Amino acid sequence: MGMGTGSIQLARLFGIRIGASPSWFFVLFIMIYMLSGYFREVLVGHSDTTAYVVAVAGTLLFFLSLIMHELGHALVARRSGIGISGIDLWFFGGLAKLTRDTSSPGEEFRVAAAGPAVSCQAIARVMRPPSSGNAGIMFSTNSATLASALNASTTSISEPEAKPNVAASSVSSPSIA
Ligand SMILES: [Zn+2]
Repeated sequence: MGMGTGSIQLARLFGIRIGASPSWFFVLFIMIYMLSGYFREVLVGHSDTTAYVVAVAGTLLFFLSLIMHELGHALVARRSGIGISGIDLWFFGGLAKLTRDTSSPGEEFRVAAAGPAVSCQAIARVMRPPSSGNAGIMFSTNSATLASALNASTTSISEPEAKPNVAASSVSSPSIA
């Protein structure tokens, strides 16, 4: 079964359909189940309900960050005039489905870099201590580096992520993980 078939809509963000394949619900279940067990052991003196709530919150935050990553790809692709048919969560993560492939190495780089750029900014935000000036500067430097990376138009790199071997249904529509 391909990626586009049986996708269930979860939300719409910036006019982009966010969906999930049935296989994703399996992953969701397994993650909550395993994290619940983990937090039951780690959160000594707390109830099982607390462990469960923390597990659900952690799992949802993880998938929210995945969606933000894919939105980074999708929004930059859209700015380049590439249509977005949607973002899908599935067994191995997330995919932004584009209506056409990127037409130049620069465009490809910007679209590919936008996903990790969002992820890095999210990580920088989470890791930044509330009252530390140094970490703030580190964050700004990261942003500046990412901004210049996004503006680079001559370099062509492939994103250092495992790209799933997309078969069947996505042959006509390129997707980026
Ligand atoms: Zn990506």
